[in-house]
This record gives sequence, C-alpha cells and structure tokens, in this order.
Amino acid sequence: MAIWVICEEHGDGLRRTTQELAAQARRVAEDGEPVVALAVGACVGRAGWLDGRVHRVVKVAGGGLVPFSADPWVAAVAAVLAEAEPRLVLWGEGTRAREVMPRVAARLGWPAVANALALEAADGGARVLRPVLGGKAYQWVSLGGAPALVAFRPNSFDPEVAADLDTRVEERSAEPCEDRVRVLERTAGDGGRVPLTEAQVVVAGGRGLKDAANLALLEDLADALGGAVGVSRAVVDAGWADHAIQVGKSGKTVSPALYVVAGVSGAVHHTMGMDTAKVVVAINTDPNAPIFKYADYGVVGDALQVLPALAAAVRALGT
Ligand SMILES: Cc1cc2nc3c(=O)[nH]c(=O)nc-3n(C[C@H](O)[C@H](O)[C@H](O)COP(=O)(O)OP(=O)(O)OC[C@H]3O[C@@H](n4cnc5c(N)ncnc54)[C@H](O)[C@@H]3O)c2cc1C
Repeated sequence: MAIWVICEEHGDGLRRTTQELAAQARRVAEDGEPVVALAVGACVGRAGWLDGRVHRVVKVAGGGLVPFSADPWVAAVAAVLAEAEPRLVLWGEGTRAREVMPRVAARLGWPAVANALALEAADGGARVLRPVLGGKAYQWVSLGGAPALVAFRPNSFDPEVAADLDTRVEERSAEPCEDRVRVLERTAGDGGRVPLTEAQVVVAGGRGLKDAANLALLEDLADALGGAVGVSRAVVDAGWADHAIQVGKSGKTVSPALYVVAGVSGAVHHTMGMDTAKVVVAINTDPNAPIFKYADYGVVGDALQVLPALAAAVRALGT
C-alpha cells in the first residue's frame, strides 16, 4: 500500500496545499510505506519541488488534460489509482477536488471525505478530522486500512519536509477522453494577489462596509498584511465583488493564520467558510453581532474608521 497525493499547479510550481499534503503524508506513512505524487496535465512540468520529498512521482500527460477539464481528469486519475490500490489518496480542498474527487470515488467504489482538517495515523489505518453541523462540532472519521480519498482544507499542515529521498519518476500517457462540457470562454483571475484559499492572512468585509468603493479599505489592509481579500455573500449579491472571493457555504473555505472581518454579521453560512482560521479579529458596530462569538479579538466600532487605522498601524510597525 502507499499514500498518494494528487498534485495541483500554481504559477510555475505546485500549489502550497500539494506541498502540505506531501509533507503530512511523509509524517503519517507507516514504516516502509511509500508516498507517491500524481502529477496530471499542467502539473507534469511543475513537479520539481517533489524531487527528494516523495518516493515516486507519476506524471500523466495527454490530450484534454491541459487546460484542466473534468472528464479527462476523472478518467486519468481513476485509471492510475485503480491499478495502484493506494491506502490513502490526499487532495487539496478546492474547486478541482470538488469536481474530480467524488467522481473518482464513485468509479472506484471507494469512500471519500471532503473538507478535512487533520490527518493522523491510527491503529490499523488513519483517521481524519472534519467539521460537521456547519462547523458547530468536529468529528474524527476512522478510515481503516481500505483505500479512501480525502480532501483537506489549505493551511491544514506544515509544508516543511526534508528532501532526502531518491525520487523515482514515471511517465505515462492518458487514454484520449473528450470532456462532455464545452468551455466557451476562460477568464484569468487576479494573478497579483495571494490566492484566497491558501492565504495566511485574509481581510474580509460585509454589507456593513456600506458601499462598493469601501472595499478598497479591505484591499489596502490586505496589501499591508500581505494577504488576500474575501467578502460575504451580501457583498456579492449587491454586485460589489465577484463570487470568486466570497467566503462561506456557497463560496470559498479559508483557513488562514489571521482572519480580519469587518462589517459581517457572522451568519452561519459565512462562518462555515472561516471557522478554522487560527486568529479572528472582528470589527462590527453591533456589540451583539454573532461574529464576535468566533473572534479572538473584537473591535466594536465603525469599519470605515477602524480598517484604515489598522492599515496605518501595520505599516508603521513595518517601517
Ligand atoms: C444557502 C445559503 C448559502 C449562503 N452562503 C453564504 C456564503 O457562502 N457566504 C456568506 O457570507 N453568506 C452566505 N449566505 C448568506 C448569509 O446567511 C448572510 O445573509 C450573509 O452572510 C450576510 O452578509 P453580511 O454579514 O455581510 O450582511 P449583514 O447580515 O447585513 O451584516 C452586516 C453587519 O455589518 C455591521 N455593520 C453595519 N455597519 C457597520 C460599520 N460601519 N462598521 C462595522 N460593522 C457594521 C452590522 O452590525 C451587521 O452585523 C448564504 C445563505 C444561504 C441561505
């Protein structure tokens, strides 16, 4: 048996979550159990970081895999895993895992767990921690020794791992597979900022910011902190921001070291997307706003004044 990590690309290299998963796989692998990375499509040429850090890299190239396309990816990943029969297959939570992982699980008849936060070795297998009841409680799920697929939230593990292995690289070609979905247009996102789901710092805002123009206050503080910007659904519904940066049940799940949240009431649909942030700083004019229940630090005040003051304070600290 082996632990497999499904790679995802970012920029010229790999997504930080892929690195976290490879590092954690090394930590929980049983004695002599190999860690194998599966690099499909665009990852094939970006897998250099894995050299020395995993035992084996399986690279799969072929038509339909670049740019990402769900049907060819499902077919390619399922074909490799079916032959390999791994003990665990680790994915980074995100749109790709959400599209591909359940379909691979259904094809192979293996269980799948989404949105996990922790992975530990346990007697006779492994166990994973995941939120239930909208993040109100947490549940350890025992995976036993049979093959299972698990998607983990970004920032769940330390990506540091020694590059001390003699990595073997295997190259394969995927069977041709056409996607049933026809992509009419692709629009590049904001490449300049840190990706929201991987950011160590997220500055988020809600309807309490009053006006689309005031989202610039979030961006300014995010720039000062080197972080990403998120918003509540009310902001997206008002047309002030793109759904790509919505945090919550019907948006992105984030798990940063610091989540600064201003003018957001703290509805469960929002907090489901950020309740594993390590430190939460909430700014709200209403001292009874539910968001304060999730906050480590709370400021009862006007976000339009507090956000610029915070940005100025952060910049002053940096100079
Ligand atoms: C199926 C479903 C899915 C959903 N998915 C999501 C989701 O993914 N993400 C999400 O966010 N929501 C989601 N929602 C909506 C969610 O339930 C809330 O309606 C939404 O989060 C409210 O956004 P808000 O907190 O920005 O606005 P509001 O609830 O209007 O809160 C605004 C807050 O700003 C405060 N405020 C006002 N003025 C100021 C000021 N000057 N300075 C500081 N604070 C101020 C107010 O006291 C208030 O607490 C979903 C709902 C459903 C039904």
